Amino acid sequence: MSTNLTGRSPRDDTPLAPVETTSLDEVKARVLHARSICDTLRQRPLVERRRHIEAFGDALLQSAEPLARLLEEECGKVSAEAWLIDIMPTADLCAYWAGAGAEHLLTQNVSLNPFVYPSKSARIERVPRGVIALITPWNFPVAIALRNIVPALLAGNAVVWKPSEYATRIAQHVVKIADQVFGPGALSLVVGEGEVAQALLTAGVDAAVFTGGVQSGRAVAETCAKHLLPVALELGGKDAAIVLPDCDLERTARGLLWASLANAGQNCAAIERIYVQASIYEALYQRMKTLFNELRLGEDVGAMTTGKQRQLVKAQIDAAKSAGASVDVLVGGEPEKGQWIAPVLVRLDDDAHAIFRDETFGPVVAMTSVQDIDDAVARTNAHAMGLTASLWTRDVDRANQIASRLRVGVVTINNHSLTAAIPNLPWSGVGQSGYGVTNSEFTLDIFTRPKTVLIDRSSAKREVWWFPYTPSFTRMLRAMVVLRRAAPLTTKLRALWTLVVCNFSRWRRR
Ligand code: NDP
Repeated sequence: MSTNLTGRSPRDDTPLAPVETTSLDEVKARVLHARSICDTLRQRPLVERRRHIEAFGDALLQSAEPLARLLEEECGKVSAEAWLIDIMPTADLCAYWAGAGAEHLLTQNVSLNPFVYPSKSARIERVPRGVIALITPWNFPVAIALRNIVPALLAGNAVVWKPSEYATRIAQHVVKIADQVFGPGALSLVVGEGEVAQALLTAGVDAAVFTGGVQSGRAVAETCAKHLLPVALELGGKDAAIVLPDCDLERTARGLLWASLANAGQNCAAIERIYVQASIYEALYQRMKTLFNELRLGEDVGAMTTGKQRQLVKAQIDAAKSAGASVDVLVGGEPEKGQWIAPVLVRLDDDAHAIFRDETFGPVVAMTSVQDIDDAVARTNAHAMGLTASLWTRDVDRANQIASRLRVGVVTINNHSLTAAIPNLPWSGVGQSGYGVTNSEFTLDIFTRPKTVLIDRSSAKREVWWFPYTPSFTRMLRAMVVLRRAAPLTTKLRALWTLVVCNFSRWRRR
């Protein structure tokens, strides 16, 4: 039975329009319908699908004003961030997939050794998987969804999308635009909570893409394992920034503050741990504190999208205080209405505290000093999650060496958390950050499967390895092995002679 999802705007508690949830039977029906149009979608020529992606990008940008308003109302974003993070990257994303990205879907001809495989040619086709289940979180409800929807549809799949219950109105808007461009059903929506997501995974889809927390990711992985369903998981992060004494202090302080507090810290790649070498620690802290106190709640820093997450972050701040952290809170307080948290700058003597261990996902920056770079690398790598990390230094050669020691999916030098918006760079994590890849040609592995086609134009009536096996055939195999391994020249020449003789007798028997 369907019910309504209700909700209030995180900005000021205004009630949001109710949205009808999808019954479990209806989830099955949506997947069945998606399957029924799969052949049509797959058979559309790539050139047509590229045009559709271009048109989709344009239609989304034409509709950017209402989309930005929805992002502010439903998720509590500040206007600048709705445009910066969810809307602007759409243009680059669609341009990439309609252009260079689509080239990765072209059939590849593969050259075969003509002596071993005479008269044969082969090709690899990228075949769409069919119906993709997409499950997304609330923090970047447009950007994260589109990074999957666009390559999935371009590859010729149908997508059934379960957005977060906290971002369904935004998803409805995106689906309405997709319907106009791709036709109804290429991208369809199912609305509800985890139960609806699980029903989607077991409704006969061909692959799943999940972005969200570790706990739900594990539940998704279990279901997919049971159904032998290919799945890509993009999970949480506890990103570290490592600051070396030779950094540009001003750029570093500003960069750390932005990457910690953008989207009110509700970013899987938010900086949540700052490791600073002792000689620069005090100077960096003082500069960050000054910049921190210039922030404006509601203009620079948005609201918390969910009340549950707000409580969780508040509890973490309280625990840090109890653990003896020195805590600076942005002055001005929090508005009475809505779900705000005044940003917090936390200083601790070491990182053996929950705030350095548990994902925060809120406007909190925690910093501590380290003895040296080895110490910082060890602490960064000790975490179970390894999404991204950054190094702040003027010595790029040294940073490159340190980068190779970091156990993360993305390293940025003198920057942080920007690569997700660059569509031709792979975005992925290590350990509990999951094993999916978003963006770039690597993401196509979840949306397509490789299909090999081999063509034999030989006029011979039999292959040398077809029945019956003869002693000459076995001699030939032995000779081929000798030619492939290290052996004295005379041995190799003998093997070559055997091969020629055997091949000659084979040729005479044709
Ligand atoms: P959740 O894991 O709570 O939810 C993500 C999605 O999964 C939602 O649509 C949710 O539905 C659904 N879901 C919840 N329970 C289940 C279940 N048992 N089975 C299947 N699906 C389920 O994450 P949040 O929405 O709270 O997002 C925050 C998390 O996402 C953070 O941990 C963050 O680090 C991570 N994230 C990772 C990114 C990456 O690229 N690695 C990018 C962005 C966020 P509903 O909420 O409606 O119940």
